[in-house]
Amino acid sequence: MTPQEPDNDTIVMKFGGTSMKDAATIAKSAGIATSTAGQSRVVVVVSAMDQVTEQLLELGEAAASDNLAAMRVQSQAIRQKHEQTAAALGGRAPTDIGEVLDRLDRLIAGIAAVGELTPRSNDALVAFGETLSAPMMAAAMSTGSTGSVGSAISTDSATGGRACEWFTGQRVGIVTNDQFGRAEPLMDLTLFQVRHTLEPLLARGERAVVTGFIGATQHGVTTTLGRGGSDYTASILGASLRAREVWIWSDVDGLMTADPRITPQARLLERITFAEAIEMGQFGAKSMHPLALEPAAEMGIPVRFRNTFNTESAGTLIVPEPPGTAADGEHPVRSIPLLKNAAMLNISGAAMVGRPGTAAQVFRALGDASVNVMMISQTVSEAGISLVVSRDHAARAKAVLERALMRTHAAKGVRLVDDVNVVAVVGAGMAGHPGVAARVFNAVAQNNINIMAIAQGSSELSISFVVRASQAADAVRALHAEFVG
Ligand code: ASP
Ligand code: MG
Repeated sequence: MTPQEPDNDTIVMKFGGTSMKDAATIAKSAGIATSTAGQSRVVVVVSAMDQVTEQLLELGEAAASDNLAAMRVQSQAIRQKHEQTAAALGGRAPTDIGEVLDRLDRLIAGIAAVGELTPRSNDALVAFGETLSAPMMAAAMSTGSTGSVGSAISTDSATGGRACEWFTGQRVGIVTNDQFGRAEPLMDLTLFQVRHTLEPLLARGERAVVTGFIGATQHGVTTTLGRGGSDYTASILGASLRAREVWIWSDVDGLMTADPRITPQARLLERITFAEAIEMGQFGAKSMHPLALEPAAEMGIPVRFRNTFNTESAGTLIVPEPPGTAADGEHPVRSIPLLKNAAMLNISGAAMVGRPGTAAQVFRALGDASVNVMMISQTVSEAGISLVVSRDHAARAKAVLERALMRTHAAKGVRLVDDVNVVAVVGAGMAGHPGVAARVFNAVAQNNINIMAIAQGSSELSISFVVRASQAADAVRALHAEFVG
């Protein structure tokens, strides 16, 4: 069968773990899926139930280390949680769940017998979270579900009821490389296959539920896309189906101008560009998969963040850059994210001046030690490089740098300042608009806050600077007052 041309009225929706907490919440999410998209065709992507990914990771460790007691406790907890939820949802859920849980038991027994957890078996294991939640969502979305929470489920009388089928990432056509734990989709093939699988079903008026986070290699071995990967799945499906929008349902209204716990005046951002959202995402504004927005952005498909527990709010719409906005300096700064738990390393020494290769040594040493560098700054004198890394990696980073640089006398010292935060101002309107940096640093200086390092990329989408952790909240509040109000 040749897939018919997409009619561009599909909405792909992803429900995160907190929207899949228990039977009542799943039923609520199912009701949202069947009622909020109007006449649009709907594909739902689900995360594992709340905390289940974490439980599975613990279960794997218990099994691999022969900790049988912990293994039993954890696998019982997972079984019970899903059996209870499936029973309450009714329909096909209990049967589907039973089969999947039995397969999980066999895998765990295998891991325990071998006594080791490889990246490959770990992926096979964590994939069970989504493989268990998808059939439950499908049951809740199918009309005629007879579970005890059935009254909460939309009967969808307007459309006369629709069938709903669930798919694993593999079955829907998500093909990846074999980098277990962080697999990369073979994108062209994936986009083609997903469309080929889902178009005929949608054309028949049916709905689909797809496991987030999971793919498979070309040989059919299960892979996962990395933590938070369900957003990525939704974005891939949206791109494949050329959806009208991709909706990410979670337990917050959307992206904010700042963290409301720091700045009570923080407001919801109604509309921002992909470039701005990606810049914010890196600062943990939302714990998003770093590639999550890319497939949708590339196809120009808007992504909307919405709140399962506040459906009145339209959330935050992320859009491709409308022409002309970047030059508009009216609201140069859209948001002020804060990166906590950071540490700064200052590498100094006159030996670095005019000596090519020092920066390469620095980054190679950190890369080899799997230390992620979050911010970089070097003055034009070349006598110092400042780096920001996560505080968890700080001691390791200092040690590997000392080893790499002192031995070759490439630098004199590596100083660690381990209680810093990075404050950023993000906004597409900053590009080519003079005076924003002056306002930023004025606002901070007026609050007697010392700036320890500064970085701005040439995209001019954001300015980041390092301050003492104890002064970070004040800096965010001062900047919010200056730019957002
Ligand atoms: N369940 C996976 C995780 O917790 C994927 C996701 O929820 O997006 O990371
Ligand atoms: Mg989760």
